[in-house]
Amino acid sequence: MELEGRVALVTGGTSGIGRETAVHFAKAGAKVVVAGRREQEGQETVELVDAAGSSGFFVKADVSKAAEVEALIQKTVERFGRLDIAFNNAGIEGVWVPIVRQSEEDWDRTIAINLKGVWLCLKYEIQQMLKQGGGGAIVNMASIVGQIGSAGAAAYSASKHGVIGLTKSAALEVAKNRIRINAVCPAVVETDMGKRIFGAPAVHKFVLGCHPIGRFGRPAEIAEAVVWMCSDRASFMTGQSLVLDGGFLAGPNAPS
Ligand code: NAD
Repeated sequence: MELEGRVALVTGGTSGIGRETAVHFAKAGAKVVVAGRREQEGQETVELVDAAGSSGFFVKADVSKAAEVEALIQKTVERFGRLDIAFNNAGIEGVWVPIVRQSEEDWDRTIAINLKGVWLCLKYEIQQMLKQGGGGAIVNMASIVGQIGSAGAAAYSASKHGVIGLTKSAALEVAKNRIRINAVCPAVVETDMGKRIFGAPAVHKFVLGCHPIGRFGRPAEIAEAVVWMCSDRASFMTGQSLVLDGGFLAGPNAPS
């Protein structure tokens, strides 16, 4: 129960990695605010948090809208009194097409949710943590394509590269205030998004071959790392990006 007494926020907590991490935070003893756009799925995550022995609370919020993120932090504090931990996980894949066929609308939407959304969350989370006198841990969701390019996914890749830069800059701004800010960079994880992007058999086979470990990641494997990064066991880690990729980025994978 290493997060006992702490209050954690998870954006995009209505499914996938966010939902799994909300449950892992609860098992570690934290009270959990689940944020997202989908009410029913959010309430389902809250039920899982409660069943894990903690206390959950759903707040409907779109991370790309400043007023909604500001209200999310206010509601968190009204409900649980403070904010100690945040996992800025909400994101979309956008439309994966070459740049020459990508619409301006899709570019704007992907950047608004994946990059501006993380910036807005950081802004209001850090304000609250400073108001409490400092201290806290934040993890931002990036991706391995925040570290390498991906032909056909330029907006997504640019947004995730941006998250890594944002993470470093934010970490420098508040290191003295004992607020640690890191990012996590998974390869493919078995979630709704993973299925949407890589579900087609030929794509699935090709992308699986890029994972030397021979399989995709599981949401719980990302959640475990995020809980650790938010715990005092990671007390000397800030401004970093942790890659969880089954060996994807280690080097060219020998065909099997
Ligand atoms: P997912 O689609 O299940 O989860 C994304 C969540 O974000 C959903 O609950 C969705 O409703 C929410 N969301 C989307 N736009 C939002 C908005 N504007 N405001 C609030 N919530 C919003 O898929 P996932 O795989 O769990 O994705 C979680 C994060 O992990 C994303 O940021 C994604 O880019 C990242 N990621 C996923 C993979 C993968 O292979 N699944 C790999 C690397 C990184």
